[in-house]
Amino acid sequence: MGNSRTTAEWKQLDANHHLHPFTDFNDYQNNHGRIIERAEHIYIYDTDGKQMLDAMSGLWCCSLGYSQPEIAEAVHAQFNKLPYYNNFFQCSNTPAVELAEKLVQMTPKQFTHVFFTNSGSEANDTNIRLIRRYWDTKKQPKKRIILARTNAYHGSTIASASLGGFEFVHNQFETLPYVQHITDPNWYHNGADLSSDEFGLHAAHELEKKIDQLGEENIAAFIAEPIQGAGGVIVPPDTYWPEVRRILNERDILFVSDEVICGFGRTGNMFGCETYGTEPDLLTFAKAVTNGFQPLGGVMVSDKVAEVITADGGEFGHGFTYSGHPITCAAALATLNIMERDKVVDHVANDVGPYLQKQWSALGDHPIVGHVRGVGMLGSIELVRNKESRERLEGEQKSGGICREFCVANGLIMRAVGDSMIISPPFVSSHEEIDLLIARATKSLDQTAEYYSV
Ligand SMILES: *Cc1c(COP(=O)(O)O)cnc(C)c1O
Repeated sequence: MGNSRTTAEWKQLDANHHLHPFTDFNDYQNNHGRIIERAEHIYIYDTDGKQMLDAMSGLWCCSLGYSQPEIAEAVHAQFNKLPYYNNFFQCSNTPAVELAEKLVQMTPKQFTHVFFTNSGSEANDTNIRLIRRYWDTKKQPKKRIILARTNAYHGSTIASASLGGFEFVHNQFETLPYVQHITDPNWYHNGADLSSDEFGLHAAHELEKKIDQLGEENIAAFIAEPIQGAGGVIVPPDTYWPEVRRILNERDILFVSDEVICGFGRTGNMFGCETYGTEPDLLTFAKAVTNGFQPLGGVMVSDKVAEVITADGGEFGHGFTYSGHPITCAAALATLNIMERDKVVDHVANDVGPYLQKQWSALGDHPIVGHVRGVGMLGSIELVRNKESRERLEGEQKSGGICREFCVANGLIMRAVGDSMIISPPFVSSHEEIDLLIARATKSLDQTAEYYSV
């Protein structure tokens, strides 16, 4: 096997046979990807040995970085004990039971049960099935509409992509007819002449208006990320979540907090709903639950929902071959043990998070940075030509891609979303490493400014 191949050979083979997610297939024939060969701590290395500081924690998932031998050991031990068994037909396995117990302990007090999946997408599909089951069991079958937000990301199955709010994605398949979207609380893009606080209320009131327009009796649920990640790390105005909470409290509608990114410490609390004081009935998790080392997701179910769906309703016709897979559950248990033992969430809240935010917000002084956002270990910046008028560097939201190329050349993985650059660095980053991240980002911004002759 392999390592005798040259980088050029890897790239050609990859382009010839491998269709990549969220990629322009045609473009990839000519602009080959980087082949990542190994990783250590917060750094990834390609087949040329080039080191890059990974300020995205993989894809928001490797919060504890790449070097966690205890997770590998737990997986190895589980392989030798019980490498697979299913959870259908009156069976369970010890890692799945222990993980269920641990998740119930770690999540806000209303959560009493978990349904395991292999991914965040499947978890949100599961949410749709659970929501339907809940209202059917309560004999309110008219409640079918699920509200979501523009620029939300909830996954990539047909159902979870319908919940998501990306128009270009919706244009590529038939979305579920019972999902409707309201505008996301991105003040910089949608706020017009309102102050941030005014816009937060305005965006929340869109939810209220939508519910009233469609009829509360027809609305099953509202799903939202505490901070929208893939949409551009959209940190809502301070006024937004308290008002949404009021609106939902006054109405009989289930609330799903999609914590696939915000869960497990990313915002400085164990879950984003704790940072914003919301009270979800269902909570989606995935990604960082195994530090990205194994594919595991799931739905936390509150006592309110569990009480209804565990009442007499017959068999729930849903589940996956790998729901509660013993290996992935063992990886999650090891990950969560490290998080608890090393007080990782305290470290994000009181040390590395505040340090990152202090250094990151200083990028707002850069000539092409029009707006800075961030909470905990999440950050975004908006690239502009003119800070006053918010004029973009060029049309068609291409400047992020230009900046990203400079970042990679400078040994930094930052993600581009349209004209914004976003980060989600590992919690194990030292202050010196955050300084290095900022230095490489600054250099890349300087080069982007020069490219656009700003
Ligand atoms: C990544 C993500 C998902 C989908 O998770 P997959 O494991 O890729 O299916 C769902 N919701 C949010 C908020 C995400 O960031």
